[in-house]
Amino acid sequence: MSLKVDCPTCGTSTAWSPLNPFRPFCSDRCRLIDLGEWFSEDRAIPGDEPTPTENPAMLQLSAEDLALLEQD
Ligand SMILES: [Zn+2]
Repeated sequence: MSLKVDCPTCGTSTAWSPLNPFRPFCSDRCRLIDLGEWFSEDRAIPGDEPTPTENPAMLQLSAEDLALLEQD
């Protein structure tokens, strides 16, 4: 008896068994694609945690501000 599942990435019917280390995915590629989608969704939130180079305030520091930061 073999159990079949549909690959969440491509929908291919694939065996759910110890012989398939990528289950429930049909292949390593589909597994990585699914993980990639999770990561990209996490990082696609608009306006969330801009990097210093994208934050205008960080580009407008005076020499005095930089000196204060360095003392920290
Ligand atoms: Zn697949």
